[in-house]
Amino acid sequence: MDGEIECPSCRRISLVTDDLDACPRCECDLEQLLQIALLAHSKIDQALRCLTTGNWEQALHDAEESWSLRHDARAARIAFLAAIACDDLAEAREWDNALHQMVEK
Ligand SMILES: [Zn+2]
Repeated sequence: MDGEIECPSCRRISLVTDDLDACPRCECDLEQLLQIALLAHSKIDQALRCLTTGNWEQALHDAEESWSLRHDARAARIAFLAAIACDDLAEAREWDNALHQMVEK
């Protein structure tokens, strides 16, 4: 997978690799974070698959689950698209806001 995780103790950003288990700077244990990141990533994969098969509600559901694990812009973007496809404009607006807040950070 690709992606980055932020060390909870020193805020160093590490690229996710197969053998990453501790922060290179402060040696804080990153394994639990990594598990969450992997799970969030697999939910994004599922959501993308649902998008390509037109299963919008499931895509929205998977993207929401991914987002609840980890605030990744990809999850918010998929949720935004899926909400529009579901004709749920209120939901789409919330995801649009979430994306905006990410960009502003
Ligand atoms: Zn660290």
